[in-house]
Order: sequence, then C-alpha cells, then structure tokens
Amino acid sequence: MTNEHTDASEQCPILTTADGAPIGRQHALTAGPRGPLLMQDVQLLEQMQHFNRERIPERVVHAKGSGAYGTFTVTHDISQYTKAALFSEPGKQTALFLRFSTVAGERGAADAERDVRGFAIKFYTEEGNWDMVGNNTPVFFVRDPYKFANFIHTQKRHAKANTRCNDMQWDFWSQCPESLHQVTILFSDRGLPASYRHLNGYGSHTYSLINASGERVWCKFHFKTNQGVKNWMDDKAAEVVGQDRESHQRDLYEAIERGEYPSWTLKIQVMTQKQADAFEWNPFDLTKVWPHAEFPPIEVGQMELNKNPENYHAEVEQAAFKPSALVPGIGSSPDKMLQARLMSYADTHLHRLGVNHHQIPVNKPRCPVMNYMRDGQGATGEFYATKTNYWPNTNDGTPMPSERFSDPAWDLGQAVADRFDSTQDHDDFTQAGNLYRMFDEGERDRLTTRIAGALGDARQEIQMRQICHFFRADADYGRRVAEKLNIDIESMAAHAQ
Ligand code: NDP
Repeated sequence: MTNEHTDASEQCPILTTADGAPIGRQHALTAGPRGPLLMQDVQLLEQMQHFNRERIPERVVHAKGSGAYGTFTVTHDISQYTKAALFSEPGKQTALFLRFSTVAGERGAADAERDVRGFAIKFYTEEGNWDMVGNNTPVFFVRDPYKFANFIHTQKRHAKANTRCNDMQWDFWSQCPESLHQVTILFSDRGLPASYRHLNGYGSHTYSLINASGERVWCKFHFKTNQGVKNWMDDKAAEVVGQDRESHQRDLYEAIERGEYPSWTLKIQVMTQKQADAFEWNPFDLTKVWPHAEFPPIEVGQMELNKNPENYHAEVEQAAFKPSALVPGIGSSPDKMLQARLMSYADTHLHRLGVNHHQIPVNKPRCPVMNYMRDGQGATGEFYATKTNYWPNTNDGTPMPSERFSDPAWDLGQAVADRFDSTQDHDDFTQAGNLYRMFDEGERDRLTTRIAGALGDARQEIQMRQICHFFRADADYGRRVAEKLNIDIESMAAHAQ
C-alpha cells in the first residue's frame, strides 16, 4: 500500500509523535484491512489519549472569555501615592495581558447576554506581575465572602431542571438587600454591553497604595473606555445571539487585526485613613462606590490593546489572574471580599492549571523569579536549575529578603474576632437610589420592565420582599416595578415601613 500523505520530497516538516519520533503513515495499525486494531499502535493510542485530555477544568465563573496583549503608558505622576514601578514616571510603559469575560455562562455560552463582564489585567512589571482582577461594574452583589459560592449557585443552573432559574436568583437577592446596587446596574442599560471594547473596567475593591516613604492611602481603580460606553437593547442582543454567539470575541479580535486598537484611561480615587474614618459608608464595602464629588478621579495613564494571542487555549484559557498578585506599592485592604479572593483565585489556578501555572508563558513574570519553592507537576526548572533549594543556607548568591520591600504595619485597633452579620446596620439603599435617580426616563422604564419580566417568574412572596427594597431605594423605582407586576402599591408601601 502507498501512503498518500507521505511527502516524498520531504519539503514539509515530517510528522512526529509527541516524543519527536518521525511517523511513516497516518493509518490505524490493524490485523488485516478490516481490523481489529493492534494494541501496539502507540501512534494512535497517543493521539487518542492526548485528545481525551484536551480540556482543562472550566472556570466555575468567568468561563467564557477573550484576551489580548497590550501596553500601559503613564501620563500623570502618582508617585506621591505609590512606589509601584509601573507608575514610577510619566512615559513609563508596561506590557500587559487583559482577559474579558462573562460571568455566569459556560464556555459555550453566547457573548451578548445580560451579565456582569470580567475585566482582568496582568501587568508584567519589573517587580513582579500585578493582576488587577476587576469587572465592568464598580460594585458587587455581596460583601461577605461566605455568600459568594451561594450567590453563584443562584446564577448557574437549577439542580433538577438544569436551566437558569429566576425564582432562585430573586429568592437570594430579596434576602440580601446589599445586592440591590449591583442588581440595579445589571438590569440597567449597562447590564448588556455591545462589546468588550465599549465598557469600563473597575477594580471594584478598595486597595492600598504605598509610597516610597511608607505612607498608605486607600485607592479604587477605574479604567474608562475611550471608545465610549455602548450597550445593546435586549431585542438587538437577541438578534445578535441568533446570528453570532461569539460577537464580543469577534469584535475584539477583528478590531485588533484591523489595527483599530481599543484603549482605556486609567483613573484612581484616593482616600486617606482620616477620610476613611469619617466616610459615610464603610470604605471597604464592595457594594458601595466612593462618590466622585468627594473623591475626584485622578488621571494616571493610557492602556491600549494591540496584539491578539496566537493560540487561544495556551494564552487565554490558561491565563491565571489572581488579586493576590500584588507588587511593592500596591496592597490589599480590609475588604472582606478581597481578602477571600486573595486565597480563592490562587487556589483555583492550582486546581485548573497546577502548582507551576506561573511557568506557563502567558503567566510567566518578565523579571527574575527567585525562591525556594521547587518541583511539582509541569516544573520546567527554568528559573532554578541547580540553584540551592533550602533556606537558611550559607551559599553565595542565594535569594534573600530585603527590608525595603516591607509594607508598613496595619493598625487593627482593638479588633474583636466574630462572625458578623453582613446584612446588619448597613445602608443598602441610598447608593442604589442615587443610581436610579441618575437614569433618564427611558432607562428607568427599561430597567423596571426588565426587572418585572425576570421577577415575575419568582414566587409572589419573593416579589413582595424584593419590591420593598426597590421602594426603599426610591419610591418611583418601587412603584414602577410593582405596577408592571400588577401588584397593589398601597399594600407594598405598608410592607416597606
Ligand atoms: P457621579 O455623577 O459623580 O458619577 C457617576 C458615574 O456613573 C460616572 O462614572 C458615570 O460613568 C457613571 N454612569 C453614568 N451614567 C450611567 C448609567 N446610565 N449607568 C451606570 N453608570 C452610569 O456620581 P457618584 O459618584 O455619586 O455616583 C452615583 C452613582 O453612579 C453611584 O451610586 C453608582 O451606582 C454610579 N457609579 C459611580 C461610580 C463611582 O465610582 N462613583 C462609578 C460608576 C458608576 P461614565 O462617565 O462612564 O458615564
């Protein structure tokens, strides 16, 4: 028999096994032309075994995403607030990788769906990777991390029906009034972005900035799209999804291929400890914004995306962002949700990608890495080779800590450790109401129509409880939702007292 795929002139690269051995023919090895197969066909077995392992665990949240490389350029000096190398002086440039995502849908879900969008950036700084793992919303649904997994369960599929379930979602939200602010954003026009290029990114959490004198201020990060915010109405999105489930991916990829590089302006809000002590809300509460009038955004620089990944799986699916990837000059805060994410994102990468996920090229720091952690699955030995693998040691040139990278101490006062109820003694309504009052007539109408459409699927006791929250935020907000659900407003007003 002849092999029609053999390149007799050997102008093409020779096909090989994964171990590099040249392959003669690409046909199954069988006993006779009709089979059966022979176990010794290691070529075929290897290919099938590799195929069975092509998928890695899907992210529990943010499973569907798109990514691109880019550059951050400092335009304004903020060294008075932070000693972070990437912000050291105007003109300074830092390479980065950004992954956008939807939250609830699985890897095959459509892009143009009503959902929060993930906005995760890895800055490859000379003092380590800084990951800014944000969303396109400045707040989040819950402030106590104990609620996070429960909240996500309500956004995923019903255990029996295996469908998304409005009753489940509103049951949770109506009992967690701290979610009202984010729920209002989700059902507003901004809850359904037209593309990844046309949305803002927010660090959402409060972080700390530390300057060269060791002084700490609290900070929020805002990436404002230079393309302008653009959203789809629900009917347009339904049309888009009907034609193209990858609309966000396609838009981003094609824009970059055309040389139309999307960009964002980074601004920060800064709060001193004295201001934090006097702030009307808890500055570390992820369900709250810092009003711009009190904490004006300070411009920092420009972020541009200008290169598509070469291989989606290697670079986007294996990209590992974690809020715990912090660099000197940028630190965490008491924000309970941030504290929990410091652990859980690193943990999920250990599960999905393994203990050496830092050695995957998209995650690899572009600065020296020196420590005494060793081996594990997938270790390349690139950073370590024969270097000393224990400490303390008396060998020359081994890595040592340096006091100049120590953070200033935190004063926790007379803190009492307890399991505090995150729903007690909080104003969950004023800021949600402020947002509602910012909307024009058209957006108020669309918001309340969408909410009534979804809330209408929930049990009536849930509807009643949730409408009271809308009333507490703004009487007009509550009245409109109630009317659209044909619920008697007089009885609602009594409930809201
Ligand atoms: P400001 O008027 O100073 O800030 C309003 C912010 O809201 C701007 O950043 C603006 O972003 C954004 N915004 C404008 N229109 C909409 C819309 N239709 N949907 C969602 N966001 C919109 O007021 P405050 O700082 O006092 O905030 C008032 C409310 O605005 C908050 O309760 C919060 O819900 C929302 N908001 C506040 C932010 C903050 O950091 N203070 C950030 C984003 C939203 P843009 O310039 O892109 O239009």
